Amino acid sequence: MARQKKLIAFNWKENPASRRDAVRLFRGTAAAARGAEQGTEIAVFPPFLYLAEFSAAVRKGDRLMLGAQDVFWESQGAYTGEIGPSMLRDLGPAMRYAIIGHSERRQFLGETDEMINRKVRAALASGLRVILCVGEQASIRRNGAAAAERHIKEQVKKALRGIGARERNGVSIAYEPIWAIGTGRHCPPEEAVAAARAIRSVAGGSCRVLYGGSVDGATVGDYLCYTEINGVLVGGASLRVPEVKKIIKQSIIHG
Ligand code: PEP
Repeated sequence: MARQKKLIAFNWKENPASRRDAVRLFRGTAAAARGAEQGTEIAVFPPFLYLAEFSAAVRKGDRLMLGAQDVFWESQGAYTGEIGPSMLRDLGPAMRYAIIGHSERRQFLGETDEMINRKVRAALASGLRVILCVGEQASIRRNGAAAAERHIKEQVKKALRGIGARERNGVSIAYEPIWAIGTGRHCPPEEAVAAARAIRSVAGGSCRVLYGGSVDGATVGDYLCYTEINGVLVGGASLRVPEVKKIIKQSIIHG
């Protein structure tokens, strides 16, 4: 397998509660990213609200990229509350990524595989890179690894329907078992590796596969040490600058 650049993605979700804390967190993350390896990409995903301000604040030579936590499939129009891919691209060169299909959006906002597929196509067509999230519920995992892998393969197939091999280079797929998100429960790394192999078998070899689920500075190395895992998607620990620094330090060790 060709060696791929690792991607460390920090997803703030609906945090922090004030602009002051958001600016402080952004500055701390940007400073930590300056120490990152050339071969590693660091991307931060703040709420939409801050993307314009932060993408203008990324300095030339900074290692940090920005991304949105979601994106709509239409570029503009009468779609109250939505933000399209070209609006994001218009924010400048630092604005590179969109997360699509996060389990919280599937669960709380009713996103379907079909909606996710439309979003992935639109984002790629505009030149954004995509982090597509897939993962199984605990009830599926209880039925065994084969059942979990069938579920995530199906999610990947549906999300990437109609997307050609070349365009798939712009997609990273985050394997995020739902039972490990925000729970402090760790997916055994061998299970994450098996899931990564299953994902690659349907997505094609050029897609990066990330792992996400309660990753912090102490556990990130357990996943990054595998060549099958090309990075991590971090939620809760993204909000604590000392953890961000530890995660980036570990990415250098396992770069
Ligand atoms: C996530 O929501 O993508 C995530 C991985 O969250 P956490 O790290 O908090 O489990």
